[in-house]
Amino acid sequence: MVPSTGPSWWAGVAKPKKKEKKFGKGAYKCRRCGSHNAIIRKYGLYLCRQCFREVARQLGFRKYS
Ligand SMILES: [Zn+2]
Repeated sequence: MVPSTGPSWWAGVAKPKKKEKKFGKGAYKCRRCGSHNAIIRKYGLYLCRQCFREVARQLGFRKYS
């Protein structure tokens, strides 16, 4: 966040780094293990595939394949 009326050095200091991995909009991470791999957003799960498989079993899903 760069205040529009900041001291001049802000311009050089507070620039957002653009060299971050491509986890922008639509990038979610597993709320169980924090992984970014293959997040399943269906049903608002927000779990990676691996966690989903584990959770799904607990939820009573049959084999998810
Ligand atoms: Zn996970």
